[in-house]
Amino acid sequence: MTLLKSLAAGFLATSLIAAAVPAGAHDDVKIVASFSILGDMVEQVVGEHAEVTTIVGPDADAHVYQPSVADARAVAEADVIFVNGLGFETWSDTLISESGTEATVHIATEGVTPVKVGGETDPHAWNSLSNGVLYVRNIADAMSEAMPDHADDFKANADAYIAKLKALDTETRARLAALPEDRRTVVTAHDAFGYLADAYGLTFLAPVGIDTEAEPSARDLAALIAQLKEEGAAALFVENITSPALVQQISDETGIAIGGRLYSDALSERGGPATGYLAMFQHNLGTLLDALGDGSS
Ligand code: ZN
Repeated sequence: MTLLKSLAAGFLATSLIAAAVPAGAHDDVKIVASFSILGDMVEQVVGEHAEVTTIVGPDADAHVYQPSVADARAVAEADVIFVNGLGFETWSDTLISESGTEATVHIATEGVTPVKVGGETDPHAWNSLSNGVLYVRNIADAMSEAMPDHADDFKANADAYIAKLKALDTETRARLAALPEDRRTVVTAHDAFGYLADAYGLTFLAPVGIDTEAEPSARDLAALIAQLKEEGAAALFVENITSPALVQQISDETGIAIGGRLYSDALSERGGPATGYLAMFQHNLGTLLDALGDGSS
């Protein structure tokens, strides 16, 4: 933990300097969200009422993230912290405890029914929209407690946002249900879509498990390639947070085409196709349908 000790020391030095500067005239509530998808959901709920800082940004991999001095400072200064939980952010407990923050910490997946992939709990719960609704409700509850004067606004924002998520959920169910049985198995780089598979009746295979930390063994990769040659798959997809090399190799060896890029664990940079949770889900649905033969997206 020497890294975090030095982060904490760096923060201490910075906070001493900050203490010499007169405090702002307002009592703004500072929120920290652990990764970009969750940060967008929080922004949708709080609107202009609070400032949201996101730790793991667009196109970045939260599984293997290493917190910076700036992250330690943001966490220390936060009033409210949101994490995904279910083991997604392996670094967040240490970052939060070593920062000395007095923030309340909320787990956005509270109430989600966990899906198991390969015997392990899949943390990517946002990849089903009904779970997205639970995240938004949890965020609205937490923020109404933290800023009771704005509770009505948070509820109205959450209700409007949830209505959009539910409409997209209905559309997703209808369009994916129309796919033929032999167009429902796809391959991604890591197992990030267990909840999507479970909610909408697709099968996702991946050479890497639910966590991007481990490289696939040569034997596992060979077994997946043999399975794909035998059983086929409708398409392969690269992801925004992982190297495309592994999926390219599988495509070369099986002859199965790459159907596009899915945004699995992070939003896109500004100007990209997935700058918010809703846009990300819409993009992923369109990419899946384009590759799997719906033909009308
Ligand atoms: Zn992941």
